[in-house]
Amino acid sequence: MEAKTSLLDNMIGVGDMVLLEPLTEESFINNLKNRFDHSEIYTYIGSVVISLNPYRPLPIYTADKVEEYRNRNFYELSPHIYALADEAYRSLRDQDKDQCILITGESGAGKTEASKLVMSYVAAVCGKGQEVNKVKEQLLQSNPVLEAFGNAKTVRNDNSSRFGKYMDIEFDFKGDPLGGVISNYLLEKSRVVKQPRGERNFHIFYQLLSGSVHPSQYTPININPTVMRFRLVSQNAMQIVGFMEDEVQSVLELVAAILKLGNIEFKPESRVNGFDESRLFTISIDLKEMCELLGIEQSALERAFSFRTVEARLDKVSTTLNVAQAYYARDALAKNLYSRLFSWLVTRINESIKVRGLRKKVMGVLDIYGFEIFEDNSFEQFIINYCNEKLQQIFIELTLREEQEEYVREGIEWTNIEYFNNAIICDLIENNQNGILAMLDEECLRPGTVTDETFLDKLNTICADHQHFESRLSKNSKFLTDHTLPHNCFRIQHYAGKVLYRVEGFVDKNNDLLYRDLSQVMFKANHSLMKLLFPEGNPNKVNLKRPPTAGFQFRASVGTLMKNLLTKNPNYIRCIKPNDKKAAHIFTESLVCHQVRYLGLMENVRVRRAGYAFRQAYEPCLERYKMLCKQTWPHWKGPAREGVEVLLTDLQIPNEEFSYGRSKIFIRNPRTLFTLENKRAQ
Ligand code: ATP
Ligand code: MG
Repeated sequence: MEAKTSLLDNMIGVGDMVLLEPLTEESFINNLKNRFDHSEIYTYIGSVVISLNPYRPLPIYTADKVEEYRNRNFYELSPHIYALADEAYRSLRDQDKDQCILITGESGAGKTEASKLVMSYVAAVCGKGQEVNKVKEQLLQSNPVLEAFGNAKTVRNDNSSRFGKYMDIEFDFKGDPLGGVISNYLLEKSRVVKQPRGERNFHIFYQLLSGSVHPSQYTPININPTVMRFRLVSQNAMQIVGFMEDEVQSVLELVAAILKLGNIEFKPESRVNGFDESRLFTISIDLKEMCELLGIEQSALERAFSFRTVEARLDKVSTTLNVAQAYYARDALAKNLYSRLFSWLVTRINESIKVRGLRKKVMGVLDIYGFEIFEDNSFEQFIINYCNEKLQQIFIELTLREEQEEYVREGIEWTNIEYFNNAIICDLIENNQNGILAMLDEECLRPGTVTDETFLDKLNTICADHQHFESRLSKNSKFLTDHTLPHNCFRIQHYAGKVLYRVEGFVDKNNDLLYRDLSQVMFKANHSLMKLLFPEGNPNKVNLKRPPTAGFQFRASVGTLMKNLLTKNPNYIRCIKPNDKKAAHIFTESLVCHQVRYLGLMENVRVRRAGYAFRQAYEPCLERYKMLCKQTWPHWKGPAREGVEVLLTDLQIPNEEFSYGRSKIFIRNPRTLFTLENKRAQ
């Protein structure tokens, strides 16, 4: 079948950046803009898909489009996310290769939409049948459930994912989906108690208040529906995924309890009555209602907000909390409750979608926060950027490895490619002994007064100490110190640019402490889900060991993720946000340029071009250019590879421009391809 369009026919601009001539940042951006202006939001860098957010519905995701891209070669049709999904799915099904789809980009760039497009494409082209359809439905419906609880409206995105997500979809040997496993990373739990100006809390709170849940569920929760509305009805989705009715109810009770908890206020006790030992007085009916909802003894909770028990060996010492400490405890409880609820939801979904039979092949989809450089960068940005460093490292390793493997597979000589390796930055952050995360942990565990400033002092001494850490002091040092630094900040040279981090809150966020008195009260609740979420509150399981810090946990889960990704064949979608107005048809060059830089896209093109810029299987190559040579036109009878050899010899293209692989022809310079194309057009 003749392709309707291909990379080089009727193309707006250049469909594959590898073929861009001349290659400059300017021509790169112009090409993106030109294509964007003509509604071409996808562009390739070899097999990498760049995706620009159109901020409007485009008619390119129809069932017809799915059919068009199904079982076609990557370069046959114009660039599309479906081409990537198809390629990944086919090599999973036919060549038994586990795949991962890595989607990166900044907030609002379209990562989550892209991940859903990939999932729905795979769902559309894989097997059918009652069982398979049920699995597909469950996998797809896990998205609205997690979005209801993990997404929120922010300045950058009305439906911003406030957690990182990795999902393994598992298939049988025929390529039919059997189920999956979801991992979540670092939910932004601080949003539960505080939202930046112009932003909202997680969607579920509004859904609960707006009546997106069934009316019968209001009575026990005792929240009046208001006029606020949100589009998602996550409850249906929860049922499809496999939640029982009483589980949904329990989850909603916890969400309601968090709302009530947030309303609790504290005032210092006026000692007029002079009988109470507590110094705090909680007002508002909310405390009472929260306790009723969760089956908690009200006086126990009041006490836990008034005192803190410190246990040391056999001693127990009670200290009273002041108003500020009580508020701190309240917020810590709300954040912990919500993030534990979220993790429980993920575990519960995993139970539903767990593969019971023998799984054969896996496709992982990673939708994770992109690099963040804000004016004010804190612990969260530090952690997120660390994760992006690791992903970049994997990108470099896997892209190069993939190139190398293809050359070996095709029997072509491999020459090394020079590239910037960001391992040094990863090491600065994650090194077990003197990495920044290890130093933060050490500081958090140290007895005595620990503050963000003592942590910063430590960083400055250790990272800047030339004698002890020679590797870090070299000119390549990525920990930057100079006199322009504000006093409470440190600066790191990330692969994507310099970022200034303010240390305020680092120690606290890393510690992530919840007073034991509170977890004990929560454990005693007459509410089975609540009990489950606070196992450390069980008085029979006294464990004086400190729970792992937030940084430690994150580092461990990123480590596991990286190991998992390294076993798979990677497919990249690099999402770009064209403007910061959430508007269609606007392409802000400076903004795009910034993203192109920190996504390392120019470097990506260079790596791709350093070896062979273009490669194509012999058959389509011969088909396309056979008209240029009498011996191959109109029909070549022998093997396609020989036909291509005859063709290229006849055209007197210099030998060093080509390598003949086992199944593909490799073209070194894009210009050679243009020569062929021009001859075709004459
Ligand atoms: P965050 O990091 O904040 O989660 P994100 O990269 O996941 O951001 P999305 O939520 O996928 O961003 O996209 C933001 C919005 O942009 C979507 O809600 C949708 O309105 C629009 N959008 C994204 N991709 C597309 C697309 N392919 N077609 C039409 N609209 C899109
Ligand atoms: Mg998202």
